[in-house]
Amino acid sequence: MKLSLNLGSISGIKIIVHWTFFFLILWIVFDELKRGGTIGSILFNLAFVLAVFMCVVLHELGHALMARRFGVKTKKIILLPIGGMASLDKIPELPKQELLVVIAGPAVNVVIAILIYLVVPIQELANIRLIEGLESINELSIQIFLLYLFIVNIGLVIFNIIPAFPLDGGRILRALLAMKIDRVKATQIASSIGQVFALIFLLLGLLYNPFLIVIALFVFLGAYGENQMVLHLSLLEGHTVEDAMMINITLFKPDDSIDIVVNKIISGTENNFVVINDLTIVGLLYHKDIIDNSNRNVLVKDVMDTNFKTLDVNDDLKKVYSLIHSKRRSFFPVVENEKLVGAIDSVNLNEYILLQSKLVY
Ligand SMILES: [Zn+2]
Repeated sequence: MKLSLNLGSISGIKIIVHWTFFFLILWIVFDELKRGGTIGSILFNLAFVLAVFMCVVLHELGHALMARRFGVKTKKIILLPIGGMASLDKIPELPKQELLVVIAGPAVNVVIAILIYLVVPIQELANIRLIEGLESINELSIQIFLLYLFIVNIGLVIFNIIPAFPLDGGRILRALLAMKIDRVKATQIASSIGQVFALIFLLLGLLYNPFLIVIALFVFLGAYGENQMVLHLSLLEGHTVEDAMMINITLFKPDDSIDIVVNKIISGTENNFVVINDLTIVGLLYHKDIIDNSNRNVLVKDVMDTNFKTLDVNDDLKKVYSLIHSKRRSFFPVVENEKLVGAIDSVNLNEYILLQSKLVY
């Protein structure tokens, strides 16, 4: 779903609120109303959640701005009900750089906690809280607000130290391990530990807090996915597009009828095609567009996409891996000295990775 709210940019990084975030706001309002809350207490709670998420944005900016120091760009920071996520273009592979990028996030929360500690008598307030018990939570003041915000920031730091890869703590563990052993092995160990923590989160979530179930899923799948990615990238190290591309590809001309293309899909295994005119690539035919137009009397040129990217035979397969996995339409013509020599897509690349894994293990 594309229903997300763009809050604007900070140093060129878009801050985006995911649509599910609004359920959190609704949940807070209903929860307060159920507990007999007033307009004042509802606003207090909403303001508090917004303040917490401000801290989360600053935490993510910590990662993003440190990554920028190592030449890694960040497109956006997305806010989800379970927390924030900075989409870094890549994670620095040098363990020392990764360590600094990861630590920069929780370090921001440490700084926020220290700043609050300096302006609010935390100790005193905490003692009063303990003596008066939960009853006094109804009392709303800026000091109470900051006390809670202090506790949340400390909580964020502690949560981010748990070595549940791919959460911050797990990344710290991976970076530390990668200083001693191979990065692929380090990732395998960190993600196995991450998945154990995911199961613990799941159990605690079932017993106490449903939010933990969502985090458990995120950690479990994230650990699996990143472990696979690191393994795949290591298998592609030193390989170029030429090694993995398809050579026997069917070509079409702009004036060909779409019927011939449909027949080709049915009679063969190719799904996407390159369109050429006098040896020049003029467009690409994607499977979905072909199927969508299969019952219409149209030509290839009416269906082809003319906005496409070509790859060179000498391009690094590691870079192509990221490109193919970031695009919805992952089919690229391959050229050598500007002449079409083949094409590559995700199925093709995955097959190549599979073959490489058989050679290595
Ligand atoms: Zn973080």
